[in-house]
Amino acid sequence: MCGSTNAAPSAFPSGASYAIMGRVGRLPGGGLAKGLAVTLRTMTRRSITRQYPEVQPDLPPRSRGVIALFEENCTVCMLCARECPDWCIYIDSHKETLPAEGGGRARTRNILDRFAIDFALCMYCGICIEVCPFDALFWSPEFEYAEYDIAELTHEKERLREWMWTVPPPQAHDPSAEPPKELGAAEKASARNARRPASPPGPAPEADA
Ligand code: SF4
Ligand code: SF4
Repeated sequence: MCGSTNAAPSAFPSGASYAIMGRVGRLPGGGLAKGLAVTLRTMTRRSITRQYPEVQPDLPPRSRGVIALFEENCTVCMLCARECPDWCIYIDSHKETLPAEGGGRARTRNILDRFAIDFALCMYCGICIEVCPFDALFWSPEFEYAEYDIAELTHEKERLREWMWTVPPPQAHDPSAEPPKELGAAEKASARNARRPASPPGPAPEADA
């Protein structure tokens, strides 16, 4: 009648103890008694709060903290910037022509001038890392790069390169899994080389007249 079933917030489970506490809470000084009851009930439970930053959180090694760039692998294909749903990857480059060598043709290649990620916009979806065909982007579990100035959250390639030192090594393969394709290809190439007859060093001997 008095709406007691609706008095408790929906987030609390219904039960006899909560009904009693609800009634106690409406008495004079009942709020204090109710608070003390909650304190008594929870003080014996294990604490789940962490004293960060004095105590560092125990994060899984593959946590998505920050994105690292291995610049040497980047071919400026622009795939990551095109696929990023937030458009928060900025890439600038120019072309450089390499002189012809050994009778070949001159070659052009892309030189990376700027690679930046705006972590104020990034939603840590990981699409850029997934789509990079040249293994140039990696997750690092580092997360302590908060800034007072939002502009500082745009990390240029030098800073993204520094994060590479914090990228954990790849996980070991499952012993019962198939060996990686690269390993199989390397073993085949090695076996092929072993079967090939050894060629004598130096120029080929001249034929007898
Ligand atoms: S993690 Fe997602 S949002 Fe962030 S830069 Fe990569 S693709 Fe863009
Ligand atoms: S997808 Fe990879 S290789 Fe291509 S521009 Fe992005 S980081 Fe560089």
